[in-house]
Amino acid sequence: MSESVGKVEIISIGNELLIGKVLNTNAHWLAKRITSLGLSVRRVTVVGDDLDEISSAVKEAIQRRPAFIITTGGLGPTFDDKTLEGVAMATNRELEENKEALEMIKRRYEEYVAEGKMERFELTQYRVKMARLPRGAKPLPNPVGTAPGVLLEHEGVTLIMLPGVPGEMMAIFENSVLPLLRKAAGNMVFYETSLDITGIVESDLAPLIEQVMRENPYVYIKSHPKITEKIKRIELHLSTTCSDENVARQRIEKTIMQISSLISERGGKVQPIQI
Ligand code: ATP
Ligand code: MG
Repeated sequence: MSESVGKVEIISIGNELLIGKVLNTNAHWLAKRITSLGLSVRRVTVVGDDLDEISSAVKEAIQRRPAFIITTGGLGPTFDDKTLEGVAMATNRELEENKEALEMIKRRYEEYVAEGKMERFELTQYRVKMARLPRGAKPLPNPVGTAPGVLLEHEGVTLIMLPGVPGEMMAIFENSVLPLLRKAAGNMVFYETSLDITGIVESDLAPLIEQVMRENPYVYIKSHPKITEKIKRIELHLSTTCSDENVARQRIEKTIMQISSLISERGGKVQPIQI
């Protein structure tokens, strides 16, 4: 993992996540998507809808200097949507009405009226709130909802604020965030494979993993025991991030050969798993 890989932090915002009402599928989806692009997610933080908590989480993340900080949740019109205020506080910026964001919001409500979803609309303070962005920020169009995403460059860190509703978060990510991450990832690729191991317990597997990882420093090996089945099996996941796909594959293949022969020597059985 010592090749220079762009670092990303995810901050999930919402009381519903902390009380266990909503599962943090946004962080899971983003982590998988971002890793597959060849970037490295270093931390996922969950905080409630509290201004000080949001602000300090963002501030601390900025101090670690990742390439990107992506937040989800808290962009909507309600009183508990405080993400932009928290980001403004963390970055010492004022919140100000952003013309482009206001236009996006207006256009979306006009569409709702045209489609008969609403009779008419007014730009109430709640709707204008979604267009109040930290100074210097840019709105990212929301193709499926009202609150735009927000992009802010701050001291070399790109902050991206996305809504909490998963469909909206994913749509803005695919349209506006993906090109930025692709560019930052350059030609980095993430390569992964899994092996199904039986006939050896995890504590006997541990020293073998350690030995093979020492000899293959770029490959990360993680054992996932499957305790629910009658036969004890372990999924062994091997992954690497590298600027050359062929090199990545070769590294993984070499590692598979080494670990497989060590496991076989100890009476275990190795089979590939299709991911
Ligand atoms: P809105 O404009 O709809 O208010 P928002 O950006 O304010 O969007 P939230 O109010 O924080 O988002 O969340 C909206 C809904 O999205 C929540 O009720 C929850 O069901 C879902 N949600 C929020 N965060 C997550 C998450 N991390 N993972 C999965 N679902 C989430
Ligand atoms: Mg909301």
